[in-house]
Amino acid sequence: MIDIRPLIVKLGGSVITDKRRQFTVKRTVLRRLARELTAAKGSLVLVHGGGSFGHPVASKYKIAEGYGNPRQLIGFALTHRAMEKLNAYVVDALQQAGVPAVAMQPSACAVVENGRIKSMELTPLRKLLKLGLVPVLYGDAVPDLGKGMSILSGDQLVAQLACELGAKRVILGVDVDGVYTVNPKTNKNAKLVQEISLSNWSSVKKRLSSGVGGRDVTGGMAKKVRELLALAERGVEAEIVNAAKPNILRRAILGEVGLGTRVVAR
Ligand code: ADP
Repeated sequence: MIDIRPLIVKLGGSVITDKRRQFTVKRTVLRRLARELTAAKGSLVLVHGGGSFGHPVASKYKIAEGYGNPRQLIGFALTHRAMEKLNAYVVDALQQAGVPAVAMQPSACAVVENGRIKSMELTPLRKLLKLGLVPVLYGDAVPDLGKGMSILSGDQLVAQLACELGAKRVILGVDVDGVYTVNPKTNKNAKLVQEISLSNWSSVKKRLSSGVGGRDVTGGMAKKVRELLALAERGVEAEIVNAAKPNILRRAILGEVGLGTRVVAR
């Protein structure tokens, strides 16, 4: 019998695509990650980000700001299509590694209001898991009950799925070793924060968002942590690890902790 309390793994857009070049997949990295994912023995749900596929199109048409102009309709469709294309690369790589991966379209099962998921139809996904298949979801352009349209991030999706499915663990793969005091790509004095909890988050956050005018300078890192802390409150532990380095994701999947930044409740 398959344990349907799944492990949820997210492959960041920064890991599987070249963010500087539109619609460019890092094929070798993706192939390696697909092999590393075969280490998962129980049930597994995979989510991936948009990287240089979804993000540039969504921002060109201002999809995240909501519907205000009919020209955004083609932008919505193009954003979704860009994500489907990236998803096809991910699913193909997984299948080639022997993982029974099946694409699932988030915009067809999530009910979203003002950018937040209100509910999600997960009956088919649960059935796939029970059979031993691996659903692969992604950040997507979604219809929004409040503002017409919005972007559902892979990170929010991970948190929602982990809650609803009672995940045993969440692993977020990014292209740096975890959460640092400042962006490690632009500041060599950046120090890795090994553990973020409900009690130390307010002091960690102050340092993270000390950019101009309090602007979020974390490239989405603070948002990820916020999603994961909400999850930790509900008893699901998460870790942000460097999936760009060979074998880190594999080791995390096999149960090793402390490879990156842990996000825990205590
Ligand atoms: P992904 O697309 O993989 O989900 P993001 O690009 O949203 O990830 O976030 C990862 C990026 O965040 C890293 O490439 C890093 O350069 C940037 N970043 C900014 N501030 C920080 C920080 N304080 N700690 C870690 N990474 C940071």
